[in-house]
Amino acid sequence: MIKLISKTALLSVFVAFSMMKSQSVKEILNQEGSFRKDTIFSIKSDSKETYLPVTIIKGKEKGSVFTIVAGIHGYEYPPIVAVQELLNEIRPENIKGSLIIIPIANVESFQKRTPFINPLDGKNLNTAFPGSSNGTPTDQIAHLITKEIIPNSTIFLDIHGGDASEDLLPFVCYYNRKDIPENTKKAHDLSLKSGIQYVVSYSYTLTPTEPAKYAFKEATQQGITALSIEAGKLGTVQKDNVDLIKTAVYNMLENSGNSVKRKSKMVNQKSIVLLNQQDYIRVPEDGIFYSELKSGDKVKKNQILGYITDKFGNKKHDIVSQTNGIILYKVGTPPVNKGETLFCIGYNE
Ligand SMILES: [Zn+2]
Repeated sequence: MIKLISKTALLSVFVAFSMMKSQSVKEILNQEGSFRKDTIFSIKSDSKETYLPVTIIKGKEKGSVFTIVAGIHGYEYPPIVAVQELLNEIRPENIKGSLIIIPIANVESFQKRTPFINPLDGKNLNTAFPGSSNGTPTDQIAHLITKEIIPNSTIFLDIHGGDASEDLLPFVCYYNRKDIPENTKKAHDLSLKSGIQYVVSYSYTLTPTEPAKYAFKEATQQGITALSIEAGKLGTVQKDNVDLIKTAVYNMLENSGNSVKRKSKMVNQKSIVLLNQQDYIRVPEDGIFYSELKSGDKVKKNQILGYITDKFGNKKHDIVSQTNGIILYKVGTPPVNKGETLFCIGYNE
């Protein structure tokens, strides 16, 4: 019912569609008045064509620009569905400053149901940053986000989840960039107030010229306050994770000063768990993976977490934890390939 009302309200004068040559994000942000604009950035590479959908919502009052990205991985559905609902609920009159929303960054991966990669070029958008203007479609999407979206953002939020094969504990995360402590503190504070129990910080050692690979690391490198939500798993929508993401976004918008009216309620906040270290256990050899453990399970150093067999059923490797910690994510389906992350164990030091 709420959705029906939202859709009717969407037919207001605030909605404008631009299918012609795109204005730049900066031009749209600088337009007078309070509005919502849905626009498309066309991408062409040799014979391949795709596009990047972008919505800009500008509030009445001046303020900072909060960017929300979903669907860098098109098989991660809770972030995509949560952002669809946010697009139906958020009104320009309830916003202070502006929002830039990329509802699905990798539309080909989403539409063709392709985990991790863009089927047009076989590349993973999440490792393609900063991208390039004349590369493959994935390179160009990364380039557009790097040049059009990130520099116009005050805060950059990239929302992911477990992909088709990944079992994942919901968490919110940011890079601990020590040379811009005010940005790191802002990301940390927004994380604490997100309503998500697990807060993960990654070490940051990137030089100014090294490729950032990941979208929110690119934003961090550009000196923008950046963070990421991870929620959802194993290629399904999961209402609880959709709701968790929406609540976290509303909480962040309120705490960043971008929201003048909230819709979601704060979830019952359990005591926050900070995890500032990660141990990545890689797949030692292609094979079939067995494990009784799930994301969120606590593990101990030297605990056997699972095992890998060959195609004849012979056990080839026991997988052993090197640390005490909690499983942030793991492969949740049988096939495993050498070098992939099999487990990410979070812990605090
Ligand atoms: Zn992802």
